[in-house]
Amino acid sequence: MQCMKCKSDDTSVIDSRIVEEGKAIRRRRKCEVCDHRFTTYERPEFATFTVIKAGGKKEPYSRDKLQRGIMVAAHKRPISSGQIETMISSLEEKWAANKKEISTKRIGRDVMESLKMLDEVAYLRFASVYLDYPCADEFLEEINNLIGHRKHRKKSSRQSIDQKELFEK
Ligand SMILES: [Zn+2]
Repeated sequence: MQCMKCKSDDTSVIDSRIVEEGKAIRRRRKCEVCDHRFTTYERPEFATFTVIKAGGKKEPYSRDKLQRGIMVAAHKRPISSGQIETMISSLEEKWAANKKEISTKRIGRDVMESLKMLDEVAYLRFASVYLDYPCADEFLEEINNLIGHRKHRKKSSRQSIDQKELFEK
């Protein structure tokens, strides 16, 4: 594996562990030339499907692209990259099992549902980008819905949503 920093081929694995409930292997690697450390993941290649965009255009599914979007939403939130990896892997499995083509709408909805379980602030941030709320009122309605749902749940240990937190970057 090539070093991501100096492009040397002289890299070695310093640690390997099974992650994502046995579905992937995470390896810590070290460059022997510049000492740069980086992480790689090894997983079965089941995520080869086509994404249908809103206008009907098709493109190959990109895990990286999806992951970047989720990372932005989860910025500074108590969600680990491992949790995000696991979440995406289980969603991919579901999507790939379903059919060879999947709409961006379905992907967005599924990600939102999963994020909601992990962290409400990340969920709302993702929703604000993904759903592209035409006005603030609708977005506030979504927040109120969420808060309403939470009130019904007893002994919820979740943190309350704070507007400052939501838009902090
Ligand atoms: Zn290097």
